[in-house]
Amino acid sequence: MLNFILLYIMKIVVTGGSGMVGNNIKDIINSNKYLTNSDVENFHFLSSKDVDLTNREDVLNFFKDKKYDYIIHLAANVGGLYKNMAGNIEMFSSNIKINENVLEACHLNGIKRGIFCLSSCIYPANPSKFPMDETMIHESPPHSSNEGYAYAKRMLELQCRQYNKSYGYAFYCVVPVNLYGKYDYFNLKNGHFIPMIMHRFHLSRNYDVLTAYGSGKPLRQFLYARDFAEIILYILFNEKIPVQTIICCDNNEYEIKDIVHKLLDIMELSKEKLSWLTEYSDGCMKKTVTNKKLLSLMGVKFTDLDEGLKETYEWFKENYNTIRK
Ligand code: NDP
Repeated sequence: MLNFILLYIMKIVVTGGSGMVGNNIKDIINSNKYLTNSDVENFHFLSSKDVDLTNREDVLNFFKDKKYDYIIHLAANVGGLYKNMAGNIEMFSSNIKINENVLEACHLNGIKRGIFCLSSCIYPANPSKFPMDETMIHESPPHSSNEGYAYAKRMLELQCRQYNKSYGYAFYCVVPVNLYGKYDYFNLKNGHFIPMIMHRFHLSRNYDVLTAYGSGKPLRQFLYARDFAEIILYILFNEKIPVQTIICCDNNEYEIKDIVHKLLDIMELSKEKLSWLTEYSDGCMKKTVTNKKLLSLMGVKFTDLDEGLKETYEWFKENYNTIRK
């Protein structure tokens, strides 16, 4: 997908470079499949150790004189359902600050082209139709479980759109569904569904009972983080793509219980040991979005879910001592 890339002397900053998507972008560019060594050196991956993006003064000082040309803005205060439910105000406040500071730094420092990351979980909880498309982000309120994160991300869409309108910038918003893959955050309390349950099953693989939370009935879409990283790079370097918001997902939707069963198979665990703790919240039951626009803009070869889960589990086991958890 990316073999047309010619970077010349572009300098690209990636916020959230130490996260799951950032590391998948790093893998792609380091593979040297598409880029030369000097191209690779033009990517600058940031983590919170480089600069705390919630701190306006630090952000403006950091970006000053760096002469970045493009940005991939991935950094966010991110987490699964239970982290969101427990901390809606913190999720709103930190993400609003991060996005506002990063956009101001771009504006003051001549960064006019970039990719900004939203999420399909910011979409309305009770939309007028399914599947939802790019026009429906602000149609009605998001699910109350994650409204702090959702409204902060919705404002990012508004901010990018207004910068584009006022200053002619090319700030694209990409909207991924649930992402999973290598370099995920495998925290047992605050992680997203797949890394969290993979880790829990792994630790309790010798127990008599394996637990999953909720009813198992919510419907979800998934995208392998490496596929998403390729889509981001394709859009960034393809100036023919009109500036817009683009939903990123593959063609499938699954019940949570299907994913749990797939994981049990891949991890060679017995389904008979499984117990659903239905007192836990399900979150939103359905938030189906469409990839019609994405596929009209580029050809994407999506990683098969079973294959992606297998690769993720192999990587998880091999790197257990150093993974984020
Ligand atoms: P991760 O949680 O893996 O990584 C988050 C990144 O943000 C890390 O690099 C982290 O740095 C950085 N970060 C967080 N807070 C700050 C801060 N105050 N200052 C500087 N850097 C900070 O995120 P993902 O890779 O999973 O997600 C990338 C993007 O995709 C995010 O915008 C997220 O909202 C979006 N998204 C993710 C989904 C998913 O399922 N994972 C689904 C839909 C959207 P450090 O390592 O130093 O803490």
